[in-house]
Amino acid sequence: MAIEVDLYSDTVTKPTAEMRRFMCEAEVGDEQKHEDPTVNLLQDMVAELLGKDAALFLPSGTMCNEIAMRVHCRHGEEMIAHRTAHPIHFETGGPAALAGINVQGLDGPRGQFDFAAVEAAIRPDNRHMPRSRLLWVEQTSNLGGGSVWPLEKIRAVVDVARRRGLSTHMDGARLMNAVVASGIAAQQWAAPFDSAWIDFTKGLGAPVGAAIAGSREFIAEAWRCKQQMGGAMRQAGIIAAGGVYALRHHVKRLADDHVNAKRLAEGLATLPGVSLDPATVETNIVFFDLTGSIGAPAAVERLLSRGVRMGALGPRTIRAVTHLDVSAQGIERSLEAAQEVFTG
Ligand SMILES: *Cc1c(COP(=O)(O)O)cnc(C)c1O
Repeated sequence: MAIEVDLYSDTVTKPTAEMRRFMCEAEVGDEQKHEDPTVNLLQDMVAELLGKDAALFLPSGTMCNEIAMRVHCRHGEEMIAHRTAHPIHFETGGPAALAGINVQGLDGPRGQFDFAAVEAAIRPDNRHMPRSRLLWVEQTSNLGGGSVWPLEKIRAVVDVARRRGLSTHMDGARLMNAVVASGIAAQQWAAPFDSAWIDFTKGLGAPVGAAIAGSREFIAEAWRCKQQMGGAMRQAGIIAAGGVYALRHHVKRLADDHVNAKRLAEGLATLPGVSLDPATVETNIVFFDLTGSIGAPAAVERLLSRGVRMGALGPRTIRAVTHLDVSAQGIERSLEAAQEVFTG
């Protein structure tokens, strides 16, 4: 059966007809010579959005993360992140392979840790130990269920790190979801960090790319890494245009995704065999556990046979993500299918 409602991830979106038209008509040039006006425009937009000196357009969010590690850290140094952080699980060992660093994963509810955990994690000056070099925050936290770090909590963890001489990085793959959910501007979220980036291919709905922002010196070094890793492109304006269009037209509408996620969570929570507190759904990601006889992989298969796709993230855990290709009607369709599968 064809997939009617795809809640697998917010990366499944297809560019809209308007976005495609805008991309088609983009002015282009050689981005490596800084001659692509559309790439330059997107970089300026992101630098301004995040309140930094400059920004760099990259093929993916993964490359933003890997480059940030390489610029901030030397081989053998250590980064401190939540144990659910994207680079620990989904970047093919990049921290070890590309940056040559150690990662210390911290515990804490909903993908977040507090300043006391950071304080305890930072290494003393001891030649047996790696040198603590980088503090890493993921906003929103993906495996934390799309949770939004409170600004005060971010300021507190960054403050400890700074006092101990660490650099700080924000993985803002879904930062704009946090912006829309909180009403707090992206600049304010990014201000405590030396580097921060946003992804255009998650809720923003563009087909390719992400952009990282930081100081002039940081971006100059990031350019060297981009070139070395084969991420430097040519007439990249054709894809950067998707990001420009998304920033202009797809930010405010993230609120719809949040309403849809909440509605989905509230509906799921009423089903027997589902364990879910809708109050934990702050943005576009819904995690829930199955408590009945059916496990997550089988449940996901049966949902798929009813035209609804979700992801099994554990033996009993399912993730559903809303985005611009999921309507309110699609949510109701999904709830009908979920009722059949989870309670039938
Ligand atoms: C998706 C994601 C990334 C990686 O971004 P890609 O553009 O898919 O490479 C990094 N961090 C988080 C939190 C993500 O959700």
